[in-house]
Amino acid sequence: MSRKYNFYAGPATLPYAVLEELKEEFLDYHGMGLSLVETSHRSKEYDQVHNEAISLVKELLGVGDDYTVMLLQGGATMQFTMLPMNLLHGGKSCDFTLTGVWAKKAYNDAVKLGKVNVVFDGEADSFTRLPGKNDLTLNADSAYLHVTSNETIGGVQWHEWPEVGDMPMVADMSSDALSRPLPVEKFGVIYAGAQKNLGPAGMALVIMRNDLLASCSDDLTAYMSYKIHGPKNSLYNTPPVFAIWAFGKVMKWLKANGGLEGMARINERKAQHIYGAMDTSNGFYRCPVPTEFRSLMNIVWRLPTEELEKLFIAEALGEGMIGLKGHRSVGGCRASTYNAMPEEGCKALADFMGQFMARHG
Ligand code: PMP
Repeated sequence: MSRKYNFYAGPATLPYAVLEELKEEFLDYHGMGLSLVETSHRSKEYDQVHNEAISLVKELLGVGDDYTVMLLQGGATMQFTMLPMNLLHGGKSCDFTLTGVWAKKAYNDAVKLGKVNVVFDGEADSFTRLPGKNDLTLNADSAYLHVTSNETIGGVQWHEWPEVGDMPMVADMSSDALSRPLPVEKFGVIYAGAQKNLGPAGMALVIMRNDLLASCSDDLTAYMSYKIHGPKNSLYNTPPVFAIWAFGKVMKWLKANGGLEGMARINERKAQHIYGAMDTSNGFYRCPVPTEFRSLMNIVWRLPTEELEKLFIAEALGEGMIGLKGHRSVGGCRASTYNAMPEEGCKALADFMGQFMARHG
């Protein structure tokens, strides 16, 4: 098989070694005579997979015992609902940064469930900028500040976390979780849909500080309640067995490939190949995002015309590079360069950008 360089934003490329292992183990899990996906989620075999996945996340991120790791269904979108439901009960409010399409989606759900103060709105700048470290004026009585660490569509990423004092920061890290080391202690909640950097679709990773968990609503139905999932180790109901199994393998792969420090170094280099090709193109490729806010995970750019963009995407496909079309809401081109995208893929794209410009520039 000739494997494509896969730049889709999500579901996205996974480490090939992980796919191979899943294939090997899929039909007959460790000689059991059945597949893990046919096995009880209360079995010792599944239990081991489940607990290992959780302990690897903790180890990789350096999460202490003052946090609870949960693996839940419903993707990051379910968290847009669960977070305000759990944390804004009793009339509490939260602060929000509107930094792009995904922050706005989280906001649109939060306002249906509680009081929300917007402390940053990037819309006037077409969501190409982020606030500086000391730019946010927070409301002292807010239960948390919500940020979106990386905007998957707009291609902006926080490289410097805001100063929030004692206010818990709640971060949607769907498109950059585990792509770089993280000061976990700065966050009250970290959450991410799995299908970009963490594994196949089907689960969300939620890491919540225990004091916040203790403060969650007691009046929710079971699935919506962190107070049910947390103490039950995400085994209150049937977990997404396949998604967690694969996620655990991605965590092992991360650990074996340099951990988060190693990933960050490679991700930096990968992004530089592509941004470098843009920045030396005399404006043929235009990134709308100023350098200091550029994402290392979702790299967006325009060409002089939409016709050239279509041609670029079609010719790149012919060269074995798939998924370079920008999100349908914004157009243009986008390369998603998550952990599992090899550096050679980014180099190949940068080379192709140079060749395409030589022919059409
Ligand atoms: N937040 C961000 C930053 C995303 O990129 C996405 C998915 N593209 C979501 C949330 C929604 O995730 P899900 O599809 O898992 O609900």
